[in-house]
Amino acid sequence: MVEKLRIALIAHDAQKAAMADWAHTHEARLSRCALVATGNTGLQLMTRCPSLAVDRLLSGPLGGDQQIGARIVEGKVDALIFFIDPLSAHPHDVDVKALVRVAVLSNILFALNRTTADTVLLSLMPETGR
Ligand code: PGA
Repeated sequence: MVEKLRIALIAHDAQKAAMADWAHTHEARLSRCALVATGNTGLQLMTRCPSLAVDRLLSGPLGGDQQIGARIVEGKVDALIFFIDPLSAHPHDVDVKALVRVAVLSNILFALNRTTADTVLLSLMPETGR
């Protein structure tokens, strides 16, 4: 694991508020991480958590998921936090499926819900760092 935890963050539209809440809860910890996010998720995070510097990529449906996937296979992501909406169909479902595949293939930390995301972050960063 590198010194600064590199976390990729993505939330489907119905989960963006939940991800912003999660990030707000963990803002002190996340401010010590290198964060990358798909476009609209990143915007929501920076709006809710102004202290966070987020490297915003393209919007997910416009290629952002694939950009995150590329970073994963290049070894530039330690953990993917992806709050999916399990109740809706998505036009970029093939991109989502590819992203899940490379996350598993690359054996990175991979959280698909808040409980797992909490566990990943708190186990790696037990101190708040405030
Ligand atoms: P977005 O993309 O953060 O740009 O909305 C997320 C997604 O892949 O649905």
